[in-house]
Amino acid sequence: MATRTRIIEGTWNCTSCDARDILARHRSCPTCNNPREETGQESEFDFGGVDATSGKSLREGVTEEKALSAAAAGVDWFCDYCGASNRGDAPLCRHCRAQRSDTSRTLAEKPAQAPRAPAPPPPPPSKGFGRKWLVLGASLLSCFGTCMFWGSRGHEVTGQVSSTEWTRTVHRESFQRVSKTGWSDELRTRSPRMPVNGQGEEPGVENLRDCVTRQRGTRQVADGTERVCSTKSRRVQCGSEEKCSRHKMGNGYMKEECHDVPKYCSESYQDCRNQTRYRSEPVYGQSCTYDTYAWNETDVRQESGRDSAPRWPELSTGSLDRLRREEKYAVHIGYSDDGPKDYALEPKTEAEFLSWEKGQSVPLQVNNFGSVNVLAGDSVR
Ligand SMILES: [Zn+2]
Ligand SMILES: [Zn+2]
Repeated sequence: MATRTRIIEGTWNCTSCDARDILARHRSCPTCNNPREETGQESEFDFGGVDATSGKSLREGVTEEKALSAAAAGVDWFCDYCGASNRGDAPLCRHCRAQRSDTSRTLAEKPAQAPRAPAPPPPPPSKGFGRKWLVLGASLLSCFGTCMFWGSRGHEVTGQVSSTEWTRTVHRESFQRVSKTGWSDELRTRSPRMPVNGQGEEPGVENLRDCVTRQRGTRQVADGTERVCSTKSRRVQCGSEEKCSRHKMGNGYMKEECHDVPKYCSESYQDCRNQTRYRSEPVYGQSCTYDTYAWNETDVRQESGRDSAPRWPELSTGSLDRLRREEKYAVHIGYSDDGPKDYALEPKTEAEFLSWEKGQSVPLQVNNFGSVNVLAGDSVR
């Protein structure tokens, strides 16, 4: 790739007379004849703007022999005695004829250029912000804590068991002969076995009959191919574009190098492929009726009572029956807290239920949210 090189000339401002935009080729101010120096930013050159996409200088490149020679002379040095700037290849100060010494400063020696006011360090972002949130969070948390504390604080009251309730249910299930339907390939004839004391039964499969062909489901079968397309995008080269880089030569000139690089654009295209097409096809099976056994509920009895000992309802059973039992208990405790209140306990077992008696006093903890706890040692009679 061919590189195109240009020399760009900078401009400077005289701090003695305020003359502005003096070409770098002038080492003394054309207005007041003061020599260009290191001080007062006189040797910090302005090179004008650049094109945003290519980075190419908006200024014309210099072609004059004299200017090109000045650009090629190397880095400027400043006279130890009078401070004037001099060509890099000049052994004597053009202003006072003093000799260049080993200690003479050069433009390149200047501390790293700070073209604009140094950016203020970003304000420590998190500290103040973070602290604010921290304070807010802490106060929320402390409120939460306080509220929880307030809510969980409680007072003790003495309640009294006002009533006890029980409900008991017995279901009778019988192992009965029934007809069912099923798919013939899932049925294997085998004899039933009757339960002994409600256990060890085997439903069995007998008398397969009345088999008919019925749809059992569907399956997907390949049915040729179809072409499926979608629009996609890709990056393609679309010509080339100029890119430039520039570097300062330390003497008011800048060297710019430009070359052409491939340019890429987005292009849409059709992405097509052949796909297998499927169609849905019914699947058939043999559906048959057969005899088997199943547990069916044949009777249910319920009894309930208040302030009495629980008992099971009577239900007779035959040899092919079994019983399923359910029990439910409630203990109501009345207490006074801003008026009469009721608190209900649900004991899980008969033994637990029987430990409560009507009229028994019960120490309770009532917190400010209104929830109630029976205090330990509740079995005080
Ligand atoms: Zn001047
Ligand atoms: Zn000098």
